[in-house]
Amino acid sequence: GPDFHQSLYCHLLCGLIFHEEIQLVSSTFAHSIVLAFRTFEQVWEELCDDIREGVLTSRITFPSVRSAMAKLLKPNPELADLIEKKCSRLSNWYGLIPELFPNVKYIYGIMTGSMEPYLKKLRHYAADVPLISADYGSSEGWIGANINPSLPPESATYAVLPNIGYFEFIPLKENVEEHMQENGNVSFLSMEPKPVDLTEVRVGEEYEVIITNFGGLYRYKLGDVVKVMGFHNSTPEMKFVCRRNVMLAINIDKSTEQDLQFAVEEAAKLISKKKLEVIDFSSNVDVSTDPGHYVIFWEISGEVSDEVLTECCNCLDRSFVDGGYVSSRKVDAIGPLELRVVRRGTFQKVLDHYLGLGAALSQFKTPRCVGPTNNKVLQILCDNVAKNYFSTAF
Ligand code: AMP
Repeated sequence: GPDFHQSLYCHLLCGLIFHEEIQLVSSTFAHSIVLAFRTFEQVWEELCDDIREGVLTSRITFPSVRSAMAKLLKPNPELADLIEKKCSRLSNWYGLIPELFPNVKYIYGIMTGSMEPYLKKLRHYAADVPLISADYGSSEGWIGANINPSLPPESATYAVLPNIGYFEFIPLKENVEEHMQENGNVSFLSMEPKPVDLTEVRVGEEYEVIITNFGGLYRYKLGDVVKVMGFHNSTPEMKFVCRRNVMLAINIDKSTEQDLQFAVEEAAKLISKKKLEVIDFSSNVDVSTDPGHYVIFWEISGEVSDEVLTECCNCLDRSFVDGGYVSSRKVDAIGPLELRVVRRGTFQKVLDHYLGLGAALSQFKTPRCVGPTNNKVLQILCDNVAKNYFSTAF
């Protein structure tokens, strides 16, 4: 189908029609699995109506999709009643996946790195169905296999596939070896550390991955940071750490994607007491103020009082642990962190924007840091701000 929303609706409908045959729930990235079941929460009654009557909702407008669905859809009031009964006995949709699909064995998709923030919600839908984190790959080539799939996603490591490409690793240790290079008459200081080969990486250290693949891509920097956790035979086992280019920096601070994820997780605990959650988040540095400050965008699943959100804002500010950030905040070289709460559906608009540009939904990752060159996304976020708060933590 040419429209993602219509396709997702029909995908859910097919899942319900064949609910006993579903053995596996999977998508490339965990984000899309969560999105599918969040959508289910909104449309389940309409899905049941379609099943009861055997007629597809008029919302689905593409003739090719309608005729494909017409072949599968027959009036089935028993099934509609069964699904309605199942849905109404769930508490806050906990265990939705095994309830709908009683024969499901596991849930599979990339759940590490920037997908970790969706794990909590996925576990909620999955109840005791195991979550299996998929391998580590990219459009440029596969990188590593999750050889211990029964470990929880938080502990997943990836054994590098040594024959799938040629891998090199740029060490990211702080004490970068500085060396002088002669370039004609000019001497200059090069801060870029020399990459090491696959077997030269050291356990416990972090690296950026470089790939040379059989397609002819030569020494391409993936932009991913990995940590070596050990070896599987002679190939390193890596933990995915974060994207290298997600960085909030104003002064001497360098806050990574991981720092941001940690801060959001800490602050989200304050609203989880009220059975609410952060649906999605992003960030930006605002240097239009003097001094500049971090801005965190949150979409929340319900109403939260100003008092709690002020606390969340303070907690976010305190939870950025980078030394440069903390010291800059103390001397006011970075201004108070700002929490901007956006309206429901804002991150859906961000997704729609990327899909409109031709991005594949299966590869979508919410941008965690929106830089000045990403005007359109920044505009979507800023246009949808419902409330904002400034930290008083320092
Ligand atoms: P793409 O080329 O758009 O499909 O995205 C590839 C990127 O997704 C990689 O460079 C990583 O940043 C991320 N990615 C892929 N697999 C994993 C994984 N198992 N864990 C964490 N991030 C991953």
